[in-house]
Amino acid sequence: MKKSTRITSLTKGGSDGWEVFYRARQMIKSGTPVIELTIGEHDIRTHGDILNAMQISAEKGHTGYAAVPGTDALRNTIAKRIQKRTGVPTTTNNIVITPGGQSALFSAHLAVLDPGDVALYCDPYYATYPGTLRSAGAKGKVVICYSENNFQPQLSELSLAANGATSLLINSPNNPTGVVYNQTTLENIANVCTTNDLWLISDEVYDTQVWEGTHISPRSLPGMKDRTLTIGSMSKSHAMTGSRIGWICGPEDIISSIIDLSTHTTYGVPEFIQYAANFALNQGDKLEIEVSAPFARRRKIAIELLEQQSVVRAVPCSGAMYMMLNIRATGLSGQEFASALLAAKNIAVMPGESFGTAAAGHIRVAMTVSDSHFRQAFRVLLNFASVQVVTK
Ligand code: PMP
Repeated sequence: MKKSTRITSLTKGGSDGWEVFYRARQMIKSGTPVIELTIGEHDIRTHGDILNAMQISAEKGHTGYAAVPGTDALRNTIAKRIQKRTGVPTTTNNIVITPGGQSALFSAHLAVLDPGDVALYCDPYYATYPGTLRSAGAKGKVVICYSENNFQPQLSELSLAANGATSLLINSPNNPTGVVYNQTTLENIANVCTTNDLWLISDEVYDTQVWEGTHISPRSLPGMKDRTLTIGSMSKSHAMTGSRIGWICGPEDIISSIIDLSTHTTYGVPEFIQYAANFALNQGDKLEIEVSAPFARRRKIAIELLEQQSVVRAVPCSGAMYMMLNIRATGLSGQEFASALLAAKNIAVMPGESFGTAAAGHIRVAMTVSDSHFRQAFRVLLNFASVQVVTK
């Protein structure tokens, strides 16, 4: 039977470079220990207090259909949180709860794009972005962000791409680069969006993981409130990846349309999960600081070790749980380096080429193993890089 073009084109044209990840998983399955510095999964689990809240809610009987837009309590908590963090007046009607940030990304794009519309996204990009745009029938178009510019999108590249486009998707703090967009970058983005009448979809799922500088939500910039859909999630901030809970914040009118979409797709998010999320967000900063602290520590370890050598260069990473390393001095591509490192040292990292074209000659290190394993693996990785140079 014929499958739809929409579904068959989902994974077309994405980048390769996931072989190292799959090979590492295969090695682990066959009993070979591998230190995995690949995907963005915490090395801790959801806090017991959050699980407790979830259980209490489920036992109280909140296991039936939940309100499709999300519970008033959670929407209200998120609205207040966003208002407090950004200064932009935000109410319950600006928020829809979704099963995770990924679902939010999908709904946001479906809500603003017609088939054939041009949707911009930045390269390097998070793995699902091209497929998410294609699922809305849009034509994805990349804005290349160069390593030399610390992967911050430049006004010239943005302006060039924007002509005729409908939307722009950005992500700060960024996966895969760990870069936090600065004020100038965000002002340029806002400028390009207002000049070219673009929707901005701002993926801020790492907004609680900022090590240097500050996170600026572009919805707070002049002219942006009515054209920005902000994507949030409990996955990264509260180690709730498996609970599948996130949100979209945006203008009331489009949020109301996205709620219609939810009625016909997800039909909401389990109420006991929403209760747990609301509980977690009402604990103040305590839980999210606990979740983000290990990445801040490991980033320090990495910086300290990087300073002792000159082969591998880090693109300054100010947020999220990743670090992008420039390994061009070894003469290897990111793919070759990651492959050889896994074969020789049983350490798995992601080749930069997995995230588009702009991060070729780089590797992405996820800081998602214990401090001691991280230190040990990072040291081996740097030694491995220097040996590549010597043997050339
Ligand atoms: N955006 C980015 C940049 C991500 O890295 C991820 C998860 N790795 C997501 C969105 C989706 O997160 P979730 O669906 O778990 O909220």
